[in-house]
Amino acid sequence: MNIHEYQAKQIFAKYGVPIPKGKMIERFKDARAAALEIGGNIWAVKAQIHAGGRGKGGGVKLAKSLDEVEKYASEILGMTLVTHQTGPAGKVVKKVYIEGGVNIKKEFYLGMVLDRAQEMPVMMASTEGGVEIEKVAAEMPEKIIKVAIDPLIGFRSFHARQLAFGLNLSKPQVKEFTLFASALYNAYKENDANLVEINPLVLTADDRFIALDGKMGFDDNALFRNPEIAAMKDLDEEEPAELEAAKYDLNYVKLDGDVGCMVNGAGLAMSTMDIIKHEGGEPANFLDVGGGASAETVAKGFEIILKDPNVKAIFVNIFGGIVRCDRIANGIIEATKVANVDIPVIVRLDGTNAAEASDILRNANIKNIITAIDFADGARKAVNAVKGVTK
Ligand code: ADP
Ligand code: MG
Repeated sequence: MNIHEYQAKQIFAKYGVPIPKGKMIERFKDARAAALEIGGNIWAVKAQIHAGGRGKGGGVKLAKSLDEVEKYASEILGMTLVTHQTGPAGKVVKKVYIEGGVNIKKEFYLGMVLDRAQEMPVMMASTEGGVEIEKVAAEMPEKIIKVAIDPLIGFRSFHARQLAFGLNLSKPQVKEFTLFASALYNAYKENDANLVEINPLVLTADDRFIALDGKMGFDDNALFRNPEIAAMKDLDEEEPAELEAAKYDLNYVKLDGDVGCMVNGAGLAMSTMDIIKHEGGEPANFLDVGGGASAETVAKGFEIILKDPNVKAIFVNIFGGIVRCDRIANGIIEATKVANVDIPVIVRLDGTNAAEASDILRNANIKNIITAIDFADGARKAVNAVKGVTK
């Protein structure tokens, strides 16, 4: 799960990571009061979306008066912000963060990720802050200093010094940096984060470090023990069909292809996507309706798959282990009527009562339901159906 910059900064503040004073608003009318409350005479007005590159896309503006704060807030709120991370469709801005303007002496990069190969979190720092870190990693990898932190030992001053010396910091700066990095480590570890990024980390004119940007990502499987983090989820940033699916305990992930998939069991769902690709098709989604799929879950599955306008055919690949295939077959017939399915539905049912299921589907005589004899046959027919071939 990801959160907004203003939320990451709330977490930073709680752990003693220095941030500029700021306030999130949702109506431009509140901009002036927010700026007055923050104080000072220069403010940053920042679009809150789950994507970076906002500055370049016109989503971050520096205001030199209260009038400008209000003007920029009204321009940014409601705008469709396109950045290199949003895709061409962009994202509609519904929240704006107003914060005190910082006098920047130098911009750095500081981040943490879970390194699965080393099985440890890694802290990374670079003097090349403010720019796209992916570009630095690709073109000047030596400019990124990394230190792995054994969670059993925790973050120690030698970790901080290794990074600080790599950044060429002066002695008093090293001390400031150590406090900053140690606080950041706690914010990461205590909340089961798997990503934290500060780009830029700024050195101010009076030699203090301050987080100018903030991004955090969390391990979804740990959200149950971090209710405060879970509560930060912004539903506007989530895929609507995925939210709908979660309500019914369906595991749905939207993808970019055109072959809809309805499968029971995550393993079978993964191999279904593989075999569709093998046949030259592109899956439109991952959908695991669960081991005990019922007629109701199948109906709901159709409804969710059909929310995606790219879907041109649906491949139902269900193994009757706990469930009986005849029940699923009746469920499919019912569901195609209820959900008004008018695209080809290729059905492969195997396992308990598969023969009965096959008879039921055939006898129903619904023209857009195509039965498959096995997994490969089903995938081939689904890919062909998308291409307009009916055989
Ligand atoms: P993004 O990475 O999405 O473009 P940032 O928060 O990094 O957004 O902001 C972009 C740039 O705007 C920063 O690199 C910095 O130069 C400037 N900026 C952001 N916040 C402030 C602030 N509070 N004071 C001064 N400049 C800021
Ligand atoms: Mg940034």
